[in-house]
Amino acid sequence: MSLPIRAPRGVKDIIPPDAIRFEKIFEDTTGILETGGFQKILLPLFESATLFSRSIGGATDIVEKEMYTFEDKGGDLFALRPEGTASLLRAAIEHHLVDPGKIVRLSYGGPMFRHERPQAGRLRQFHQIGAEILGPLTPSDDVDLISLIHRMAVSFSIPSWRLLLNNMGCSVCRPSYREALVLYLSQHEQSLCPTCRHRTKVNPLRVLDCKTPSCQNILETVPRITDFLCPKSQSHFEQVKSELDSLDIPYTLSHQLVRGLDYYTETTFEFVSDALGAQSTWAAGGRYDGLCQELGGPDIPGFGFAAGVERLWLLREKAGTLPVVASPPVWMTVFPLMTEARPSALKLIRNLRENSIPTTGFFGSVKIKSAFRQAEREGSRFIAFIGEDELRSETVLIKDLKTGEQTSYPIKEFSFIAQNIRKTILPA
Ligand SMILES: [Zn+2]
Ligand SMILES: [Zn+2]
Repeated sequence: MSLPIRAPRGVKDIIPPDAIRFEKIFEDTTGILETGGFQKILLPLFESATLFSRSIGGATDIVEKEMYTFEDKGGDLFALRPEGTASLLRAAIEHHLVDPGKIVRLSYGGPMFRHERPQAGRLRQFHQIGAEILGPLTPSDDVDLISLIHRMAVSFSIPSWRLLLNNMGCSVCRPSYREALVLYLSQHEQSLCPTCRHRTKVNPLRVLDCKTPSCQNILETVPRITDFLCPKSQSHFEQVKSELDSLDIPYTLSHQLVRGLDYYTETTFEFVSDALGAQSTWAAGGRYDGLCQELGGPDIPGFGFAAGVERLWLLREKAGTLPVVASPPVWMTVFPLMTEARPSALKLIRNLRENSIPTTGFFGSVKIKSAFRQAEREGSRFIAFIGEDELRSETVLIKDLKTGEQTSYPIKEFSFIAQNIRKTILPA
């Protein structure tokens, strides 16, 4: 016997009946986005590796350490997508969906891949649902999309959620903040963790994300981006805050919130929940005003977010709002008692299915007990027997496993059988 092959580390199978629930979570979340006018776009699972280094940033953890890159047989370098925004923008530009004069709203969902240390709520293949608005945006568009995510928090009863908010400045004011930050960090270089010493040189903003206690100490008195905002960024920030206030959406200002991606400008936000433990973020995003142009498109702003489906699952499980799976998945198991009855059984099965009765066949045994066991495993309400007598009289004997009642039907009266079955399962 050979050793069984297991799924790769950090990769999870989603088995029945969870798989249906998982899809339902996708539908629920996408449904909320549809009420905001977002149209679905289906994107490839892999892209040119350059797409991500150019958009997310070459000196970010994602691109430096976490991306699954591979060379294909033609020698081109590809990467499994670590996130959706870059792919979505690439596709929107390629298909001329973006236009400086109009606003487009697109949503996506599916697996993403990052080589991280697996832990609760963090997998190497995980799932995200995201949405992006592209076009001539105002700060109100930021608030409008945040308000849709807020609706998710409310309608899924996400426990103890909080909205963290920051403004990261723009291409005008960010450089002066960066300068002040680098100066401050170099003054404290000795106390920084080795990673942050490296980050100070290549991507100083990422130091703000460090969870190491020694770095945390230094970060207590770190210069704040919001003290460096230019008048335009300042007014953007004020407008976002006051419009959130007008919608009664509470938020906490978090000046260290920079997100792990280089492309953000102005508004950044995270929805967190204390019910999740260390990986507390369940939805996050922000504004990216230069990204479209950076990827070869027109110079238009974008605003977007992504939500973690596994985390939404955990939170909805805690809240008791996981989608209910419709049961039973199978209504009828057809059991031919002998080989000669199999053609009639197959015909009955096909016709019941055509009449919307979920039906399976059980062909491999002559033991009635095994047929009952199989029907039970599949959650069938009925067993249909076709034996010698039934073959001769062109009938089928159907037993209701719940009531024990047995009824004989003319085997060719498919729609009559289906009608009666449906009446029993779905009483008016
Ligand atoms: Zn600015
Ligand atoms: Zn550090």
